[in-house]
Amino acid sequence: MFDGASKGPLAKLSCAAQLIETDDGLVLIDTGYGVADVRDPHPRLSRTFHAMLNIRFRMEETALHQVKALGFSPSDVRHIILTHLDFDHAGGIEDFPNARVHVMELEKDAAERRRRSFVTRRRYRPVQWDDVRDWRTYAGKGEKWLRFDAVRDLDGLPPEFLIVPLPGHTWGHAGVAVDTGVGWILNAGDAYFYRGEMDIKRPHCTPGLRAYQTLMEVDRGKRLANQERLRDLKREQGGKLTLFCSHDAIELETLQAANNQSSRAYSDEHLAS
Ligand SMILES: [Zn+2]
Repeated sequence: MFDGASKGPLAKLSCAAQLIETDDGLVLIDTGYGVADVRDPHPRLSRTFHAMLNIRFRMEETALHQVKALGFSPSDVRHIILTHLDFDHAGGIEDFPNARVHVMELEKDAAERRRRSFVTRRRYRPVQWDDVRDWRTYAGKGEKWLRFDAVRDLDGLPPEFLIVPLPGHTWGHAGVAVDTGVGWILNAGDAYFYRGEMDIKRPHCTPGLRAYQTLMEVDRGKRLANQERLRDLKREQGGKLTLFCSHDAIELETLQAANNQSSRAYSDEHLAS
């Protein structure tokens, strides 16, 4: 009904936080739930979403704890790029007080000013990010990336990082593309929720995730058109593009396995030389 894999009454959805090592420090793309959300979820998070999503908070899964487990300090995280400001993406921002936070201007405006409906008051939780001092917001006009508009030259980041506006789920929702040198990785955030939606031959979604995306969308036309464009991109780019979204646990596990394999190969090579 939901994740297309679980057999019991509960489904498993992830909240991906992506960490990238650059010559100038670490870059985090989205932050999942933060330490304060885990320790004391209310009133930081809405009771409605907490109950509806049956959120399982695990301290060891916060971005902060995972960064430390890799041997880094929280101050090594110099930049955070956000796909959007929903509570399940923005909760860990303040666990990295030295980071500059990059987001689309439209998204920050919406999160600060459009909190009028039942859903928007509960999805945007300013307490998660109101202490951030170093924001960089982008209007995103004019630049191109493949078949999308894009924001290039993010302030302080290397040119390999691009924000790719993908509105629909929220007003200023965006993906984040990274040029790895051997291909692109596109973190599509919540542009889609289920891996089957990116099936280029027969796109499909589970009923549960279709309903959830409908509940959370602000512009269905744009959301579905962006899914279509993402499938076109995948068709064109083939193996040169790694595409994933925030909440598909199977996609996440596949990427984690591939990442572990390539880091092992990398360290073997370096130990040998
Ligand atoms: Zn989300």
